[in-house]
Amino acid sequence: MISGTISRVSGPVIIAKGMKGSRMYDVVNVGTEALRGEIIRLEGDEAVIQVYEDTTGLTLGENVENTGIPLSVELGPGLLSSIYDGVQRPLPVLLEKSGDFIGRGITAPGLDRSKKWEFVPQVKTGDVLSPGDIIGTVAEFQFEHRVLVPPNVSGKVIEIREGAFTVDEIVCTLDDSIKLTMMHTWPVRIPRPHKKKLDPVLPLITGQRIFDCMFPVTKGGTAMIPGGFGTGKTVSEQTLAKWSDTQIVVYIGCGERGNEMTDVLAEFPELVDPRTNLPLIQRTVLIANTSNMPVAAREASIYTGITIAEYFRDMGYDVALMADSTSRWGEALREVSGRLEEMPGEEGYPAYLATRLAAFYERAGRVTCLGTGDRTGSITVVGAVSPPGGDFSEPITQNTLRVVGTFWALDTNLAYRRHFPSVNWIKSYSLYLDSIAEWYSRTISPDWRGLRDKAMYLLQKEVELQEIVQLVGPDALPDSEKAILEVTRMIREDFLQQSAYSDTDSFCPVEKQYLMLNVIMSYYEQVNLAMNRGISLRQIQALPLRVAIGRMKEAGELDAIRNLNQEIGITLMALEVEK
Ligand code: ADP
Ligand code: MG
Repeated sequence: MISGTISRVSGPVIIAKGMKGSRMYDVVNVGTEALRGEIIRLEGDEAVIQVYEDTTGLTLGENVENTGIPLSVELGPGLLSSIYDGVQRPLPVLLEKSGDFIGRGITAPGLDRSKKWEFVPQVKTGDVLSPGDIIGTVAEFQFEHRVLVPPNVSGKVIEIREGAFTVDEIVCTLDDSIKLTMMHTWPVRIPRPHKKKLDPVLPLITGQRIFDCMFPVTKGGTAMIPGGFGTGKTVSEQTLAKWSDTQIVVYIGCGERGNEMTDVLAEFPELVDPRTNLPLIQRTVLIANTSNMPVAAREASIYTGITIAEYFRDMGYDVALMADSTSRWGEALREVSGRLEEMPGEEGYPAYLATRLAAFYERAGRVTCLGTGDRTGSITVVGAVSPPGGDFSEPITQNTLRVVGTFWALDTNLAYRRHFPSVNWIKSYSLYLDSIAEWYSRTISPDWRGLRDKAMYLLQKEVELQEIVQLVGPDALPDSEKAILEVTRMIREDFLQQSAYSDTDSFCPVEKQYLMLNVIMSYYEQVNLAMNRGISLRQIQALPLRVAIGRMKEAGELDAIRNLNQEIGITLMALEVEK
């Protein structure tokens, strides 16, 4: 085993001499307390190491031992409902071992070694297995955990067992005396392999109108939510975690404020999965970085998270990975880079910030999984970004925006006016509109895209009209343009606004979304037809239609919305020109 000695300590970064033969990203044990660290640079026999624990008190000359293993996570039954730190140490276990403050050098395996799981084999003696094949299943809460042949393993089954086992007991033996347990490990910095990346043609259904209908993200797509303090990033991430049509959620929380993560740790286990009424945590893996945890663990957390997400993807599931907020990750990267005395790039972030961000988001995707057959799985990544002062020109926002497919720009003014979700419809965009158009056309309606584009066009038109109104007052506008303002107000208030806390409206099925928008847009058409007949806008506005449209959100029956559409047509057609 390679071992050296500490020659320098600088915050979370230390330098060790005598480390010849070490490899990048090897995990090391630092000092007498065996603090866990990772090699992030090698020069001659010197290794630069980021340490995942508080380095106060380390002294020069203390021993550093290379474990020879890259930073890895444990993958197997027991991940669901776990709460980990950035290097997969189970927080509840650590707290139990060391009291309120996590002591140094305390370790606990990512997966519980004592718990027994009922293993149901899916293969038999003599079967020839490829990497990624399913050897059996385990029930984990309501979830079918598929036990996989690790990506780099294959062979013929010599023995397969059935019954209750712990994660490190052998359940399957292949020829060449390869022993498989229900768990395996994987280095976090290396993407897990898959057979093929698939086109992003399936929308991720979130039940949020502004997302699904206006700026959709796909299964396997990437989205970012930048926004200033209090604009709704965390509420959005949690709403997506609850409602998205994925089986698994990996939630990476990086403490924004002092005790925010304490809240997450307390609150998250209380969240209820609205579809099953079971605790949401039963299909979630939570990675939590409180602000008092060392920065290096925060840097590692997104890799730990995405590797776990890839593992569930490889079973053939849809996974949503939420990172709140990636700005805290970027700051950790900046701090470590500063300690390394690297040449700083923009605003002190390292020059490789852009490539790191791109490489992280690149691990999203819908894929054909390794293994026999055509299993598909996906990871959708939604990263919140908290730019200081809400200024989107800063490096994390800019570099993320270059690599993601959907941009949900949260707006301080909208949040201030309590228009939620505070997604700015002028600044936001989705690059997936074309690729999912076919799905919408087939599943919802052929005119979905046309409706959506028309609504967006009117919202853009509204901005111009509002400028005129600001200059010369609303009376200067002709009725045709006043009608646009009336309809855009409906789009904003009766369609885009959606409370995450409403019993009836926190989730809106896509079909209902379509019908609602259809009502508003055909109202606009009918109004124009009526005005062409000489009816005045004032006459139309005197009708109680506006109120009825405002009630669509609460409607449980879709037929109520369909009827409203007809009613609008009939009512407007019956109007007669005032003498
Ligand atoms: P951030 O994480 O951006 O600092 P939060 O997600 O904590 O902001 O949101 C701040 C507040 O805004 C919430 O406590 C809530 O009152 C309100 N809010 C945000 N999004 C919504 C929403 N979709 N529906 C209703 N209220 C919301
Ligand atoms: Mg927040």
